[in-house]
Amino acid sequence: MKVRFWGVRGSIPTPIRPSQLQSRIAAIVQRIQPSDLVSQESRDAFLAGIPPYLIETIGGNTTCMEIRLKDNSCIIIDAGSGIRELGISLLKKRDKVKKFHIFFTHFHWDHILGLPFFDPAYIPGYELHFYSPIKDLEHHLREQMKFPYFPVTMNEFGADLIFHTLEEEILKIGDAEITWRRVKHPGGCFSYKIKEDGKTFIFSTDTELTERDFKRSKENTEYYCGTDLIVVDSQYTLGEAIEKYDWGHSSYSLAVDFAAEWKIPKLVLFHHEPKYDDKKIYKILNSAKWYEKHIENSNLEIYIAKEELEFTL
Ligand SMILES: [Zn+2]
Ligand SMILES: [Zn+2]
Repeated sequence: MKVRFWGVRGSIPTPIRPSQLQSRIAAIVQRIQPSDLVSQESRDAFLAGIPPYLIETIGGNTTCMEIRLKDNSCIIIDAGSGIRELGISLLKKRDKVKKFHIFFTHFHWDHILGLPFFDPAYIPGYELHFYSPIKDLEHHLREQMKFPYFPVTMNEFGADLIFHTLEEEILKIGDAEITWRRVKHPGGCFSYKIKEDGKTFIFSTDTELTERDFKRSKENTEYYCGTDLIVVDSQYTLGEAIEKYDWGHSSYSLAVDFAAEWKIPKLVLFHHEPKYDDKKIYKILNSAKWYEKHIENSNLEIYIAKEELEFTL
């Protein structure tokens, strides 16, 4: 399966501001030496040497993930503002897939606000399957698309809409098995696990990790053991996580402890704090890598979630 990130910001879309962009360009220009400009090779080497927080951005959109199965089935998790770009890309690429499986972790605004801007929803012939363990799924989605909050309602969608309440049993899409579990977050939130061809991906945003998640219980062992890639909420630094106890998010260091505890080889830090700029977020990545080196027997690869990041499992 292929996992692609379309929105990684927590809480609210956080686009880069003009003054931030200007100061980045100024910082890059200051670094240029005449020798950096003499050839294509020297220019490429110069660009390659610029720190990622100056030359990259993690992106400003809120939660949206695309998972492509081997038969090209398209699973989407959450309809944060990132789903708008996903919809544009699907139509531009004339993707043959006309059926989308959209799962919701929960219904906080940052996870649903992009749905009215998902272009395929307005086109007859498309099929949108919505999934959540919450029975009021349809009601919650329709409520955000009505007067005075939005000019059109979900009745204006041209696609066929099919709502599924997830029950206890495993859900199958193609050859993939999908399971879920409740995580600690105000009002509740669900983590999803997708398994296909012996490879396992877990997406666990808006999660405040607690002792319960580290316990070697039967449920935890079944859910977490053997996972190849996990995306975990790591909105805070450790200091903030202590200050914001019960706010429903985790620190990056706890996310590292968690992935190391369950021997998950790849960890992606996700749901970035809107107050943090790219520089601070890359600093968190470095701190997480430093911290991981001090955990005994850990061999974890750590990534920072950014738009367009992709993994093949
Ligand atoms: Zn959120
Ligand atoms: Zn939330």
